[in-house]
Amino acid sequence: MQKPHFLELSRENYKEFCKNIGLPKFRAEQISDWIFRKNVRSPEDMLNLSKELRSKLFTSLDWHLPEIVSKLDSDDGSTKLLLKNSEGRSIETVILRYENRISLCVSSQVGCKLACDFCQTGKLGFVSHLSKADILAQLYLANLQLAGEGKRISHVVFMGMGEPLDNYDNAIGAANTMIDEDHFNLAARHVTVSTSGIAPKIDDLSRDSKASLALSLHAARDDLRTRLMPINRKYPLAKLKQSLLSYQKVTNRKITIEYILIGGVNCSLREAKDLIRFIQGLKVKVNLIPFNSHPGMDFDRPSDEEIRSFQKHLSDRSVPAPVRYSKGLDVSAACGQLAAKFSSDLHESPARYRLLQKEKHLGEASPL
Ligand code: SAH
Ligand code: SF4
Repeated sequence: MQKPHFLELSRENYKEFCKNIGLPKFRAEQISDWIFRKNVRSPEDMLNLSKELRSKLFTSLDWHLPEIVSKLDSDDGSTKLLLKNSEGRSIETVILRYENRISLCVSSQVGCKLACDFCQTGKLGFVSHLSKADILAQLYLANLQLAGEGKRISHVVFMGMGEPLDNYDNAIGAANTMIDEDHFNLAARHVTVSTSGIAPKIDDLSRDSKASLALSLHAARDDLRTRLMPINRKYPLAKLKQSLLSYQKVTNRKITIEYILIGGVNCSLREAKDLIRFIQGLKVKVNLIPFNSHPGMDFDRPSDEEIRSFQKHLSDRSVPAPVRYSKGLDVSAACGQLAAKFSSDLHESPARYRLLQKEKHLGEASPL
């Protein structure tokens, strides 16, 4: 039988575990304190436990954590970690530092089946689902990285590699564990699951989790959205809207709409009008994200004028839509740039890679 992973057990589970082997409750508190507050990697480091208990813990649970293969710091303070799990798969996770919070962008799959035309992960194709433990380990290892600075991750976004709702049980299970006060205890509104729009799973999500929802919309007209995101053929906008409406009926929570602005493709007045029409009747927050270009892709960043006029059309209709510039561009850690398989040169020779990336992005990230 497969052993439970140490990150999947709650404080309550640890109490049960101790009870079953005849140990007092306070031992369970010591164990969960080591895990959830002090971020230890193994029972060997749980110094106030007897040798016997440490060895019992060691043999009863799965203590595997992905290995940190490399760590790349961006000039803007974000850090991309390349991890390798026990199956030898590469996982990317990105620590994003803001003035008042530290977010972690986690991956839910290696690659992605959904093949959005503009996304580097989509170009990779599907490689594998990540287990719940591998998703939680990204948060655990990020906290370990930050421990030296006396900091912790305060926000998690499922915006790394993969489609979380296509790996529903593991991704939503991990999101719920992150929120559970008996586990990682993050605020539910600080854990955001981003989806390309798997409508029936949005219905499930409204019942199964308190995590926040972000929808990657990117176009609000079926022909254009299907061109950019093939999933739209299966779940077209009318169906998607229905799911969002019922999600809101059940949860009464605001939904974040992510809209990438791709130069000359989806950011003219016509598309701004489509967007206004689509969000009618929904409580949303719209984020505009200038497209991050990468080699071999036909799409371009929008011009400043395209961004400005799209944003103005929305704000004139009382839809505030901040422009969010991706972090980590210089180390390919920005939205849509995660594709571990192709970034081996980055991790083998970070300095050279960063130089190449800088040349590529020169002049691209100028704020409005
Ligand atoms: N599969 C999920 C979550 C991962 S993608 C989803 O699609 O929502 C995370 C976000 O990055 C999505 O909003 C996605 O559309 C966006 N993204 C993908 N490629 C991008 C690019 N080149 N530039 C900017 N954002 C991109
Ligand atoms: Fe998959 Fe999201 Fe990329 Fe689309 S945008 S290919 S759903 S990771």
